[in-house]
Amino acid sequence: MATLEIHDLHVTVEADNATKEILKGVDLTVKQGETHAIMGPNGSGKSTLAYSLAGHPKYTITGGTVTLDGEDVLEMTVDERARAGLFLAMQYPVEVPGVSVSNFLRTSATAIRGEAPKLRTWVKEVKETMERLNMDPAFAERNVNEGFSGGEKKRHEILQLELLKPKIAILDETDSGLDVDALRTVSEGVNRVRETGEVGTLLITHYTRILRYIKPDFVHVFANGRIAESGGAELADKLEAEGYEAYTKGGASE
Ligand code: ADP
Ligand code: MG
Ligand code: MG
Repeated sequence: MATLEIHDLHVTVEADNATKEILKGVDLTVKQGETHAIMGPNGSGKSTLAYSLAGHPKYTITGGTVTLDGEDVLEMTVDERARAGLFLAMQYPVEVPGVSVSNFLRTSATAIRGEAPKLRTWVKEVKETMERLNMDPAFAERNVNEGFSGGEKKRHEILQLELLKPKIAILDETDSGLDVDALRTVSEGVNRVRETGEVGTLLITHYTRILRYIKPDFVHVFANGRIAESGGAELADKLEAEGYEAYTKGGASE
């Protein structure tokens, strides 16, 4: 079983001509088959963690290690990370001009699997997965991210997740901006992937509502650039009732 291990991760960004430390020693282990939720106030550094794992050039790793089955993730290119089995939805946040969703998915699957999926079974798999996600078949022919609504971006993210079947998936704010129906559909997709037992998921969110549909095995409270507390699903209930105030008092998250 694949294991992603983050140890004492420190990350800085350049902002307003100053270097600011955003991640201040993150420790986290995610195994294939486990579902982890990272929850925390806005500005606490959750997205910075996701971008850092994705290898975004804006984020400088100043200390600590990230390994996947002992292999140094921080030394890998973005493509190598994907081939190693890491899925980071924000790897491709921009429009990909002239590349349809259908071609993009097949190219990604080919890169990850090392061989092109058989066309006939692939087309069927894409079609069925899109149906389950209540996606219009015409969506497959649209260019990646071109004019996608917030909800379409999230569904596309889950479509990729279901089709590419990574070892470890990192989903940042998959729930934000979704209405209740879309939230349920997206959650069902995450749960289907989870039921395979072959994907470890790190679900990063500010809101507790997605956790009504996806029951995490572990919940981590993220505050001020590190994990302040870890527990089981019951920790999410506590956060829903009490908010993040207990974790941000005496040290603003920004
Ligand atoms: P969260 O996702 O928990 O809301 P972020 O990781 O987005 O938090 O942001 C944490 C802090 O880092 C904020 O103060 C934010 O302004 C800062 N920050 C994050 N990314 C950048 C960036 N690319 N440039 C400048 N500041 C950034
Ligand atoms: Mg934010
Ligand atoms: Mg964020």
